[in-house]
Amino acid sequence: MRHWIVAHRPHLNEMQIFTLIFLIGVVASVGLELWLARRHVSHVAANRGAVPAEFAASLTLPAHQRAADYTMARTRFGMVTTLIDAVVLLAFTLGGGLDLIAGQLAILVPGGYYLRELLLVGGFTLITSAIGLPFAWYRTFGIETDFGFNQMTRKLFITDMLKSTLLGVVLGTPLLLAILWFIQTAGAWWWVIAWASVCAFMLFVQLIAPTVIMPLFNKFLPLEDGPLKQTIQKLLERCGFTAGGLFVMDGSKRSRHSNAFFSGFGAAKRIVLFDTLIEKLGQEEIEAVLAHELGHFKRKHIFKGMLTMFGMSLLFFALLGYLMDQAWFYQGLGLIYPSHASPAMALLLLMLVLPVFTFVLHPILSYSSRKREFEADAYAAEQTSAAALIRALTRIYDDNAATVTPDPLHSAFHDSHPPAFIRIGRLKSITAAA
Ligand SMILES: [Zn+2]
Repeated sequence: MRHWIVAHRPHLNEMQIFTLIFLIGVVASVGLELWLARRHVSHVAANRGAVPAEFAASLTLPAHQRAADYTMARTRFGMVTTLIDAVVLLAFTLGGGLDLIAGQLAILVPGGYYLRELLLVGGFTLITSAIGLPFAWYRTFGIETDFGFNQMTRKLFITDMLKSTLLGVVLGTPLLLAILWFIQTAGAWWWVIAWASVCAFMLFVQLIAPTVIMPLFNKFLPLEDGPLKQTIQKLLERCGFTAGGLFVMDGSKRSRHSNAFFSGFGAAKRIVLFDTLIEKLGQEEIEAVLAHELGHFKRKHIFKGMLTMFGMSLLFFALLGYLMDQAWFYQGLGLIYPSHASPAMALLLLMLVLPVFTFVLHPILSYSSRKREFEADAYAAEQTSAAALIRALTRIYDDNAATVTPDPLHSAFHDSHPPAFIRIGRLKSITAAA
């Protein structure tokens, strides 16, 4: 009966279908993100009036309200950046931004393949960084300063930015050149070789991070001898863990937020404690926090995370290898001139549009990350004490002004760490069972 409608539907070619799918993806992901953010703000606002019963003993009303205000300020600002990001994405693609840059470069550097490709990626990165700069500035000197977390001076902000730009150029240029060279010379399976070299590169960066990269930004001093060091060394022995050293990092020069982490890998792994963590927590609590980090190693989370990253980058390169030769991919994303299609262009387009389609994976990734946090907590409870970890978490959540009343749906979608009350609830049940 309705077949005539189908017959009269205007014929869409591959390129138009792809444009349509892309636009639907943008509208759906931005819409969903804004909807979740709005829910989160309303939920936090609705629960701002009173401290939830399970925290009544450990959280004061002013601290609870400060966390609520901080969460709302950051979420509202996130809504603005979500919209701006979407506008920038559309401007670079369907708006013809990348086409324009490629056109200018074709005039400026007519011959050189490598130079033109490098300048395309460099130019794009420069423009997006410049657009992001006022937002990063506001986040640091607006929100973080308003809530008393920021310790960074304007001078440090600028030197940080210059250093990371320089680092990006120094590390990124050879890698990009290598990939471009493989594309030119390695035949149909170039993407496998390119992927392998990216994996090797990531391992190399991990390897030099603690000794070469991180000292560019922070000071690392060996943890002084004393009871804390003894406690930590006993913990490491108990867990059968070898570390290349215990360090204290001057995190306080940027922010009051506190943390602890491991860097590097193999026997050269370094354990790093923020000076802010040592200042705020007692010995037992620090031990529990470190045991949690050790739990991530012992339960193979670090190893699995790396494998996942390698797997995902293989998919990325396979996709890039395929899309690079498809005219509809370039045209569907706003490239009018076929001569502007190139490997670097395909790379930029894929990096730009992929998040639109992988947005739906967020709940799955967040879920698996939260599951790992529970496993690390359970390990810490086993090796140290659940009570000490509860005290540490309460203090950390409070000091970082993390809300204890997030919107459940927003949290399921975005939170890599479980909300405080769920995490502490689990630990309490461990203590009760023991
Ligand atoms: Zn963790």
